[in-house]
Amino acid sequence: MEIFHISAECYPVAKVGGLADVVGALPKYQNKAGHKLRVVMPCYETKFRKENDFECVHWGTLQLGNFNFPFSVLKETSDKLGFELYLMEIPELFDRKEVYGYEDDVERFMAFQIATLDWIIGREAMPDVINCHDHHTGLIPFMMQHCYKYHQLLNTPSMLTIHNGLYQGQFSFDKINYFPEFDRTHVKLLEWNHQINSLAVGVKCASAVTTVSPSYLNEINNSANGLESLFNIVRYKSRGILNGIDTEVWDPLKDKMLEKNYSIQNFEKGKQQNKETLCTLFNLDPSKPLFSFIGRLWDEKGGDLLPQASALALSENFKEINILILGSGSAQIENQLNSLLVDYKGNYNTFIGYNEELAHLIYAGADFLLMPSRVEPCGLNQMYSLRYGTIPIVRRTGGLKDTVIDFGDNGNGICHDQSSVGDICYSIQRAVSLYEDKKHLNEIRKKGMSTDHSWEKASQEYIEMYNLILNKI
Ligand code: ADP
Repeated sequence: MEIFHISAECYPVAKVGGLADVVGALPKYQNKAGHKLRVVMPCYETKFRKENDFECVHWGTLQLGNFNFPFSVLKETSDKLGFELYLMEIPELFDRKEVYGYEDDVERFMAFQIATLDWIIGREAMPDVINCHDHHTGLIPFMMQHCYKYHQLLNTPSMLTIHNGLYQGQFSFDKINYFPEFDRTHVKLLEWNHQINSLAVGVKCASAVTTVSPSYLNEINNSANGLESLFNIVRYKSRGILNGIDTEVWDPLKDKMLEKNYSIQNFEKGKQQNKETLCTLFNLDPSKPLFSFIGRLWDEKGGDLLPQASALALSENFKEINILILGSGSAQIENQLNSLLVDYKGNYNTFIGYNEELAHLIYAGADFLLMPSRVEPCGLNQMYSLRYGTIPIVRRTGGLKDTVIDFGDNGNGICHDQSSVGDICYSIQRAVSLYEDKKHLNEIRKKGMSTDHSWEKASQEYIEMYNLILNKI
């Protein structure tokens, strides 16, 4: 089967969060299973673009309303990613460093989707399936079905995978002329709450919809930033497929970003050495339990609870613990976290920013990973930490509920129910007691390290969905 994944992110080309990790891994495993995989994404000004070789396989001019943009399609030549990578180079819109966050994001991602379809219909044969990811590619299923110029794709099924339903890519109907000419009797498909809503469009028009965990699929029927009723309506074509992790990239035995590699056979020593390096870097005491957080500092991740929870946990434990926070996001949360540096010097530190190497070292060197998320469609951090022998402390929501079971129930982590400072501190308290019982601690670490979260099974579930929608058309 020839499968196209169309996405705004893909590791290691450009990464903001979990979307990149999934689109960098899932196609690799589908390729290994004998399918032909192509990943298509915008060409940002990234390190990967500069340091790798590409050949131009197509060029043209795309039309966005009254504007014309030249574009070219660049194919990565080494094939080292385990799938074919195509970058859509649209110089005026994408030769920038950041993936998102520009005033013209609507124009950028609309142009990306149009250029991608313009190129695909010019190829010799149409793909068997197009798998779109998140709202940045949510208009593609509509355009495939209703824009006259893409009629060759009318019989190609599309699937929309939702990694985060909070972000929906809404914009005003003033921009409707950005769409290539389409049958106006279908204009209602574009509308949600008087706006064009890219995610809703994808959900309505795709042949199938998947979310990145089964629990998240259940949750969005009740809480989805205004799309709840739509998710209820399309339940018949939806499935929750739990993400896997790329066990080649995330392997404590081979990870080049660690100070010391280790496996389940010698994890105690290995983890301790990574912890010592981390503690030296951040002025912490390696004899104390180390709690970490890695992620985007927003309310959805429970980032707003971290400053108060950290201060309280450090006070309650008379500074007998360490806390290290890696992340960026809301300036207010960043400032609050940094304001604790003076009072808790020696037990607490932060790295405000994005740092892939440091994240790997933390997964290896920390004892516990905090994930107090309010919303977590799947969450990858808890799976990375399990694989590295670090015990996740999670709020039971979405994919966290599907992957972490409390050690009190013979599980692999520590769980609480509420997004509150009290619940986080109570879990930290339990973790401190567990840390003192080394035998029990190591049993739980081992359980986490031996859990299989590889993509083999999950990638097969995607193929089953593709087969289902292929047979329906
Ligand atoms: P998200 O909602 O952000 O996509 P996920 O848990 O699905 O959350 O994926 C987060 C990914 O981003 C993980 O690979 C995590 O290690 C990485 N990550 C998040 N923030 C940072 C950061 N500040 N520095 C390095 N890696 C980060």
